[in-house]
Amino acid sequence: MTNRTDPYGRSIDYMRVSIIDRCNLRCRYCIPEGIEWLPPNEILTLEEIAGICRQAAAIGIRKIKITGGEPLIRKGCMDLIHMIKSIPDIEQVTLTTNGTLLASYAKRLHQEGLDAVNVSLDTLNREKYAKITGYDGLADALSGISEIEKYKIPLKINSVLQRGVNDEDWQELAQMAKDRNINVRFIEMMPIGHGKQFESISNEDILAKIQARYGPVEKVQKSLGNGPASYIHIPGFRGDIGFISAIHGKFCHACNRIRLTATGQLKPCLCYEDHISLKEAIRGGSPEEVQRLLLAAIDQKPAGHCFNQNQEMITEKQEMAQIGG
Ligand code: SAM
Repeated sequence: MTNRTDPYGRSIDYMRVSIIDRCNLRCRYCIPEGIEWLPPNEILTLEEIAGICRQAAAIGIRKIKITGGEPLIRKGCMDLIHMIKSIPDIEQVTLTTNGTLLASYAKRLHQEGLDAVNVSLDTLNREKYAKITGYDGLADALSGISEIEKYKIPLKINSVLQRGVNDEDWQELAQMAKDRNINVRFIEMMPIGHGKQFESISNEDILAKIQARYGPVEKVQKSLGNGPASYIHIPGFRGDIGFISAIHGKFCHACNRIRLTATGQLKPCLCYEDHISLKEAIRGGSPEEVQRLLLAAIDQKPAGHCFNQNQEMITEKQEMAQIGG
């Protein structure tokens, strides 16, 4: 079955799958104080997650992004990737990580045939990295990136800029795309969880600064991933620069995704707390019941988020780490 569409005619073929809510970083806009640890049986087992992905494939999901928390701290993450890669109708399995544990897993990820890695990296300055993430881990993240490059797994850097902290770090981050086969993307801060306390820097401003520095840039027409990023090419650069402008360039008309949290909540939209629990169905129900609930989540997708409107309309209360981004 292909081309599962929602009531707004959007084709939904992508599921972000959070496999753990815990993270080894304490990013100031995400979980600066950490989060309450859930009892282990609240979290889906790896077999349950793979089972949901199998049913998702049966209703038209073709691409899976493994996320967290920090997915690489979940024991068995590689086995899970293996299981999901083995589902015939899943065409792409990708991973998003903060990169701090990536170096030791790069070889296995290559062996498992992982299709791409996103590394979240907001600065190349060691002190700022520690200030933003609560951990002196820049060197670890950079070595993770280098290992992934060695195995030639397609790589993107995702950066969130904060005013007064790393708002000018786009310069060094963008330079990573100059001589290396890396796409660097700027993600606007979204008013989810602690992100509400930060002003979102417009990607239009970043683009203007890039143009002021590098001159005219070319718009990249082809799609370079699963998501809503728009890309530019700076002449002479190997990689491209992407913009995920959730606030200042709302792209809900092109939304192609649903989200599964580590506790088994299926979310039609990042902005709202509405969800459908898959936990009971995957633990005791039939495959058809899981499929029915997956289809119900697609049917319940709203027309769009409300991040750029009155913040009281945003009903989601969880942190990004509990959802998976
Ligand atoms: N630990 C993994 C990682 O670093 O990619 C996956 C989970 S993390 C929550 C996913 C992404 O969400 C990271 O790139 C992080 O910077 C981003 N993020 C967290 N809170 C955010 C917010 N309020 N607005 C925009 N992005 C946010």
